[in-house]
Amino acid sequence: MGGQVAKHCSACHRGPVADDIIETNSAILTDEQSCGSKLLLPSRRCNSNWERLHDDTIVNLFSPAWCDGCGALLVGVLQQSRRCRVCKRLACEHCATNNPCFARSLLSFVVEGSKEMPAAIRVLCMDMALIHGLASEHPEVLEYSAEELWRNPAFLRGLVKLADGSESTSYRKKVAERLSLCKKSEREVAVEVLSAMVQEDLPLTFAIELLQPLAEGNPKAFATVKESLKHGSPLVRTAAVKAAAELAQLRGFKCSSALCSRIRDTDAGVRCAATSILPTLELEERTKMGAWMACLQDGDATVRKTACKALVQCGGIEVEARSRSVMVNILLDKDQEVRAEAWSALLAFKTTALTGILVSLARSRLDDITRKRLVQTLRGLLTLGDPKEVQVVASSLTGASWWLRLAMCESFCQHLDASNAEVRAICVSAVDSLADRTDNKAAAAVAAKLQDSDAKVANAAWAAIRKRLGDADPDVNRVWLEEVHCNHLNPSVRGEVIGAVLNNLTETSWLIQMAATRALELKQPAESREVLEILMKFKEDDDPAVQQIAEDVLEHFLLLGRESAEGIDLEPDSICKSLSSTSF
Ligand SMILES: [Zn+2]
Ligand SMILES: [Zn+2]
Repeated sequence: MGGQVAKHCSACHRGPVADDIIETNSAILTDEQSCGSKLLLPSRRCNSNWERLHDDTIVNLFSPAWCDGCGALLVGVLQQSRRCRVCKRLACEHCATNNPCFARSLLSFVVEGSKEMPAAIRVLCMDMALIHGLASEHPEVLEYSAEELWRNPAFLRGLVKLADGSESTSYRKKVAERLSLCKKSEREVAVEVLSAMVQEDLPLTFAIELLQPLAEGNPKAFATVKESLKHGSPLVRTAAVKAAAELAQLRGFKCSSALCSRIRDTDAGVRCAATSILPTLELEERTKMGAWMACLQDGDATVRKTACKALVQCGGIEVEARSRSVMVNILLDKDQEVRAEAWSALLAFKTTALTGILVSLARSRLDDITRKRLVQTLRGLLTLGDPKEVQVVASSLTGASWWLRLAMCESFCQHLDASNAEVRAICVSAVDSLADRTDNKAAAAVAAKLQDSDAKVANAAWAAIRKRLGDADPDVNRVWLEEVHCNHLNPSVRGEVIGAVLNNLTETSWLIQMAATRALELKQPAESREVLEILMKFKEDDDPAVQQIAEDVLEHFLLLGRESAEGIDLEPDSICKSLSSTSF
């Protein structure tokens, strides 16, 4: 009555279990109902609800093997033996139909659960070999393991060795959990056994892992962990770093400097572990920074990557100029993954440090992607709209590379309309210091801010323009003048702006004169009637300074008119006439 076999444990319904399975008799004798049915031989009838038969499959053996029941050589070429999928025992055809399977019995109890533990199962829970055999695949068995087993050094040793043969984290977790439930005396035995195992110089990392939760109230456990930081095996040192770091962080054990020294370990794995726990260490700022720099400059790419990842966990990092170059180097790391992590790590730095690093980076030879990223990061800081941050970015750009200044000038232009007046004022000054002196677009953007509702912003804009208006290069003077519009000025700058524009009407350069008339929103040349009319209007202005300048400029034109009385352009009389006929 055999059948096609699904490859999973028939006791706990978990799979898969590996073997060369051909057919099984599990369909006949699996559940309680069939226990004691007429299918079973009388001698094998269950005496407990939990008793199970072996879950046999027929296997092909390709090397000599013997029956675990009677010791007979298993003969034949194919299908010569039965192996239990749970306890793995091999049996000849005769032995296969005898003897209950203790492993399956125990597992059934564990999986199905029952408040009361039958005596037969209790006996199984004391069986060291049985528990060892089941524990790595079915760690839940450990919950039921008898208390006295945990007093047995051989049992503990077996468990540690099992862990180092498998990757299963649930097994490791279960062992640690069960151990923590033990009484103090048993835990002390465990510390002794585990410490001894570590000192035997075997690479048993699980012993260290188990010692960590035992360290509470047991100085020996902590001492062993700490000593293991210098263990001969790198695997053990790595495990010790992790364990000691957690003890230091969660329980306040003192081992920060011992841990920090692992950053200079000969093994990259240990250095990685030490690097990743660096943010948790309580160290002097200087020592810590030195450690960071060592990690970031490590010869191993994994360590450098870990260092960048760990940096993210810190916040508000400030860097000295010396360390700045280390960060620049790691942003240009030859390993792509390290570079990616380094860029994310930048978030951990204070804005001043961050901008400093980026501006230094901009001086290196960069590819387009890096340049883009650099500018994007700086722009990101502006987008936050925090005046302090914006100011830091603006200040950092003094003396930056030309291409960065250009790119950032554009960004500051985009923030000239920020909702925060302080930000607007900073942006105006930034554009002024970053823009090319003949940049029309920047000039227009700054000049528009003369109309800003906030006096601070308008003043900043005026300060920027005033500087250019006096420039020795007439082109610079003209470009900025062209962008000034005298209507709707902020009252705090109105007088000065109009005064300056009027003064420029008398400039010898025709282009500048034209720019000045355009600033007055006029289309005519400087000495036209339209201009004279507006000068007359300003002569009556509320601002005495404007009055004075308007008068001076008018006088200048009249004088000019008289001097060129015989000239082609204007008759002095016509000027006088035009002036007197104008009524304001
Ligand atoms: Zn079995
Ligand atoms: Zn046999």
